[in-house]
Amino acid sequence: MLLRVGALWWPADEVPMMTLALLQVFGAAASANASASASHHVNKRYAINPLGHKWTHTNITYRLESFPDTLSADATREAFRLAFSKWSDVSPLGFTEVRRRQADITIGFYAWNHSDCGSSPLHPCFDGVNGELAHAFLPPRGDIHFDKHEFWIVGRSRFSWRRGVWLNDLVQVAAHEIGHALGLWHSADPRALMHPNATGTGQRDVGRDDVRAIRALYGCADKKRACQRWAAAGLCERRKRLMKKTCPRRCRLCSEPPEAVATPPPPANVKVKVVPRGKVVGFRCGTKNPPSPPKVSWYKDGERIAASVPGHIALKGRDLRIVANEFNEGVYTCRLHRRGRALAANSWSVRLRNADRRHS
Ligand code: ZN
Ligand code: ZN
Repeated sequence: MLLRVGALWWPADEVPMMTLALLQVFGAAASANASASASHHVNKRYAINPLGHKWTHTNITYRLESFPDTLSADATREAFRLAFSKWSDVSPLGFTEVRRRQADITIGFYAWNHSDCGSSPLHPCFDGVNGELAHAFLPPRGDIHFDKHEFWIVGRSRFSWRRGVWLNDLVQVAAHEIGHALGLWHSADPRALMHPNATGTGQRDVGRDDVRAIRALYGCADKKRACQRWAAAGLCERRKRLMKKTCPRRCRLCSEPPEAVATPPPPANVKVKVVPRGKVVGFRCGTKNPPSPPKVSWYKDGERIAASVPGHIALKGRDLRIVANEFNEGVYTCRLHRRGRALAANSWSVRLRNADRRHS
């Protein structure tokens, strides 16, 4: 399950209530382990559902029952294809979309009430914009439900000041939920896609810890009969990337993490401000007082800030003030211009002090 900041999460799977308590204890133990191990490099921080629910076959099918209002059917299909490929790349599992027959994993976008939500204590109904974005059931049910009220996009999640809503990356959220539908629980590693606050950390790819998790459940197997022949031909060294996906066992690459995903560098000349939660941070665009007032444009993460948002952001000419919280983290840029000519530009990156970050 993935939430958009500020709310609690709880397991939403089909295991009985008794197991819910078990899961919570298990979760607490896992995070205690994680903090104890941080100092001496014990790496496992993932969690698998404690009953070991998993698919018993590797060729898994999925079916899209309904679509979001904000994306075309084709874009939605492509988003799921991408999300599933993140897991098929690092496990023996393969995924195929089916349209006309029953599938292992059923996926849909629903508003408020859907299927047995509300009547089942382990299946919450959706809550409108923000809050819960999606949830998934463990195998063998494996269904994934998305909140139809959210604004779904393909691309990095961000807050849209223009629309006044979060734009949520369907690929990221789907990949996280697929992890649950395959039997994974949350990881304590903030670099993991399966971290409960992946929407907050922005992690969009399967990380090392996620690979360990999926392989702990499904093993590390070669996908091609030709692996032996290819290995003998030296492809393990020459085509390491490809072989890591298709023949990890034969090439002894099972314990190797996937390629690190490069995060794009921040724009040049960004001043980084690390601030405590709740602090009001102010910026002034340009250094000198210009003789006649130029035009000022403000941007957050590349998107134009059109107006003040009460309680979050105050915009007044060359001055911008924000309250430090998860919504307002990001890169602020201003441009001073007159008659289309840029006079000055500044950028600030606002980050919450680590201790103040909310780990829900
Ligand atoms: Zn989750
Ligand atoms: Zn549901």
